[in-house]
Amino acid sequence: MIAQCDLAAGYLAHRDAIDAAVRRVLESGWYILGQEVAAFESEFAAYIGVAHGVGVGNGTDALALALRAVGVAPGDLVATVSHTAVATVAAIEMVGARPLLVDIEPETFTMDPASLERALREAPGRVAAVVPVHLYGQAADLAAITGLAGQHGAALVEDCAQAHGAMLDGRRLGTFGDAACFSLYPTKNLGALGDGGIVVTKDEALAAKLRELREYGWRERYVSHVAGVNSRLDELQAAILRAKLPALDRENARRAEIAAGYDAGLAGSGLALPVRRPGASHVFHQYVVRAPARDALRERLRAAGIGTNIHYPVPVHLQPAYRGRVLLAPGGLPASEAAAREVLSLPMYPQLDDDAVRRVTAVLREIGAAREA
Ligand SMILES: *Cc1c(COP(=O)(O)O)cnc(C)c1O
Repeated sequence: MIAQCDLAAGYLAHRDAIDAAVRRVLESGWYILGQEVAAFESEFAAYIGVAHGVGVGNGTDALALALRAVGVAPGDLVATVSHTAVATVAAIEMVGARPLLVDIEPETFTMDPASLERALREAPGRVAAVVPVHLYGQAADLAAITGLAGQHGAALVEDCAQAHGAMLDGRRLGTFGDAACFSLYPTKNLGALGDGGIVVTKDEALAAKLRELREYGWRERYVSHVAGVNSRLDELQAAILRAKLPALDRENARRAEIAAGYDAGLAGSGLALPVRRPGASHVFHQYVVRAPARDALRERLRAAGIGTNIHYPVPVHLQPAYRGRVLLAPGGLPASEAAAREVLSLPMYPQLDDDAVRRVTAVLREIGAAREA
């Protein structure tokens, strides 16, 4: 059986460092917001290339707190995509704002600047922030999106939950926006062994605001200056993340190698393979192919012992909780709806070996040949 993702393999690859980190925290007697969190915040911010990092409870909270910190208020509109983890949209509603969902580019699965522009024109002055999602590990079209957000006076908050370490034009994703939000959920390219998230920003005042908001609005203990929340990264997770961060580039390079193996093995297979944006380095959080008969293909792979996943089967605007209720860009979201029917995520994690990659491509080619015969 080849799993789509193997978290235990990820733990075993770092076992000694993680076990030592956990013991260090357990013996320290300090478990929430201590020196491990502070060290992780500065090490991760330095890795991304910005001055400040603020650890929080999870990636959804990172987005919600970043939106509040950049000034999004209840009733404001926030533009993002529908082809994303529902967390992106849930975070917008957590701050009382209204999601305005725009379409994606069919080739890269990221925010379509043309759809964003139509949405911004239709709601002049009402969009307080734009949240591009660097889906599957590849940059959205930040040059166009940053320009549009700027013209319309909207803040830019990057959803980097799937893009730890990815770059665009030589800069890490997370350095482009007013703030950028990372999930540290176990499956992500940099994952804790529990929940975690971090917001990074160049802006010192914004970082200070985030530190207040994540802990009841405290500036000093027990005195709230704003009405905040409780969303803290804990010391155990921070220590585990510090143990794993030095390997992130190496693990992303292995993901790229696996992707290159899939590219070579699946060329001419009839599947639509991932398209690289010029100037972008893709960190392959997922390797996603498109197949018109996706569900049948997935079943054939399952029968051959190959695990896959679908990211995501239903666009947010068609999910029961949001359908008929969220605002959509003029022209609708046809590319998002088509993607949800056709996307398939192949096995992808750094410990996946070359034999497994060859087996996946061989099985996919056999299925394709059988279909043509
Ligand atoms: C995982 C993810 C999130 C949310 O992160 P959590 O830590 O699970 O709250 C947000 N956006 C995207 C694109 C994600 O993949």
